[in-house]
Amino acid sequence: MNFVASSPVLVPIQNTDETYPVNRLFFVGQNYEDHAKEMGSETNKESPFFFTKSPSAYVPSDSAIPYPPGTKNFHHEMELVVAIGKPVFEVETEAAKQAIFGYACGLDMTRRDLQMEAKSKGLPWDMAKDVEQSAVLSEIASVETIGHPESGLIELSVNGEIRQSGDLRDLVNSPAELVSYLSSFYHLGPGDLIYTGTPSGVGPVLPGDHIEGYIQGVGTIKLRISD
Ligand code: MN
Repeated sequence: MNFVASSPVLVPIQNTDETYPVNRLFFVGQNYEDHAKEMGSETNKESPFFFTKSPSAYVPSDSAIPYPPGTKNFHHEMELVVAIGKPVFEVETEAAKQAIFGYACGLDMTRRDLQMEAKSKGLPWDMAKDVEQSAVLSEIASVETIGHPESGLIELSVNGEIRQSGDLRDLVNSPAELVSYLSSFYHLGPGDLIYTGTPSGVGPVLPGDHIEGYIQGVGTIKLRISD
């Protein structure tokens, strides 16, 4: 036998030679009212819900990924991502904010058809969400360099056409509130990332598509679906 351990997942930190080693990838569902509405639902600020993806689902910005198997409706979701920099457990919002190391642009790529089916049957979302190469992430910009983005455009285009356009001020739970809430369930720490939800306008992508995302004050992200 000659098994080889998988390499750690390392995300570049903007304007440095440093990297951020990934431990866990958390995703919040329906954290913008207009997206909840398009999913036939409504938000609940007091009880956000989360799902996770395997760290091996990480893909750096500027990658080309194949159209995944098992779906006929592979969707883009453009999201602000929070990178935690300090250990936190059962903390209030202010302490949670102090624990944020930085922010990035992320794409939560989703097998929407499988998600809808799972939802209607009350089944888990793993096959819909924990898709290989579905956790796309830009470089991380540190709080030291960009501060805490609290408002500003969050946008996504496919082949140059705007599909999603929202504002960070419409996040139902802010990054710090999400960190605080999750810290009552997990001992969070460096390496834990939270995708903070997507604005409305999610939709399908096809082989050959070019996806580009932008968050004001944070950065950009790109993904191509290979032919
Ligand atoms: Mn999402």
